[in-house]
Amino acid sequence: MRVFKFGGASIKDAPSVQNIQQIIKQFGQGQPLVVVVSAMGKTTNALEAILQAFWEGDDYEALIQSLQEYHTKIAQGIFWDKKNPIFEELAQYFQTLRQTLVRDTKTVFNELYDQVVSVGELLSSVIVARSLQHEGLQVMWQDAREIIKTDNNWREGTVDWKATQKCINKILLPLLKDKQIVLTQGFIGGTPDKKTTTLGREGSDYSAAILAHCLKAESQTIWKDVAGVLNGDPKRVPDAQLFAQLSYQEAAEMTYYGASVIHPKTIAPLREKVIPLYVKSFLQPQKSGTCINSVQAHKFVPAIMYKEKQVWIRWTHKDFAFLSEAQIGEILQQAHEAQTFVYAMHREAFALQICTDQRPEKVEKLIQATKADFTVVIEEGVELLTVKGGESAFTQKLTENRIKLWETQQANWYQAILRNQ
Ligand code: ASP
Ligand code: MG
Repeated sequence: MRVFKFGGASIKDAPSVQNIQQIIKQFGQGQPLVVVVSAMGKTTNALEAILQAFWEGDDYEALIQSLQEYHTKIAQGIFWDKKNPIFEELAQYFQTLRQTLVRDTKTVFNELYDQVVSVGELLSSVIVARSLQHEGLQVMWQDAREIIKTDNNWREGTVDWKATQKCINKILLPLLKDKQIVLTQGFIGGTPDKKTTTLGREGSDYSAAILAHCLKAESQTIWKDVAGVLNGDPKRVPDAQLFAQLSYQEAAEMTYYGASVIHPKTIAPLREKVIPLYVKSFLQPQKSGTCINSVQAHKFVPAIMYKEKQVWIRWTHKDFAFLSEAQIGEILQQAHEAQTFVYAMHREAFALQICTDQRPEKVEKLIQATKADFTVVIEEGVELLTVKGGESAFTQKLTENRIKLWETQQANWYQAILRNQ
């Protein structure tokens, strides 16, 4: 049994959908297959914009219409018969979307967000499933909300692994025995009281890993518009090179420090069951891409990770006093409570500095909790550069023409807080 995940870029128009049909035919047959799809193209952003307009009392109908036209046009490019039931199915989803947009005094924004934004994956999954059936493949469409169970932590649902395993055994396994291919949505899950949750932006990779884990799949493949996992973001690192192999730990570490090629939560469920993760190009599917597994391969090129939209916060005592370990502990405890992740840290006699995501509500909470005892200074709009395995001449070249607020170079580890000049 294998799991394939296709992201938004791989199904952004009719020819792309036809391309992944070929990939599934060529690489997905011979054993049971679970296909996980994201929303098409930039649909999730479009749904966020619809919700925002609705919430602010602006006109959102034109935005819904344009999203509806986008999906209808893709379906028209695949199904020549105008009477194909897919068109009615799509219209039905848009009808439901319009009905979801109601607000009273009890409406919680984040809960509504999940009900609205999840529509993207529902739409893409019916188009792709019907298109594969149209091609003569034995495909069953499955609602992910019935098999991936979460709590009601809206927009970042926490997976209930026990309940999920149970549903997968009960619903998915029999389907896979029957049909060779089951197609479902990434990114979305369901609460016990049948509400929709989402797993965090770009969470479809994680959905696929949850399914692979519970099914003890032979492998998971993420089909991307890049050749695999490169040693740096090709938009920023011009001659980025492909890693043929990475260990689970190396891959997870890269995602932690900003490599956006895989969702950070993806690796752990796969590692636990020693399931290899392939990252391959949907444009050149015959190429081997990157294999992430438990093997530690020798690396010849450094890994370069940029974490954008960061803040660099500095605490100093209000009195002339050294910062004690207890106080450092207290600041970090408050960071933990505000859910501000610390990606880099620096300690001086009188000060502590940390680098965290520029998420205003969380940062504000942390500052409020610590400002009685400390003077807090924040540097916004910075980024964190992390390089693993680079020599100092190399890292210095990377930071040319940038303002360095802080840097540290150890044996094979370099970090810097940077801003533009
Ligand atoms: N469609 C969702 C998003 O764009 C989930 C995903 O792409 O993985 O965030
Ligand atoms: Mg997406």
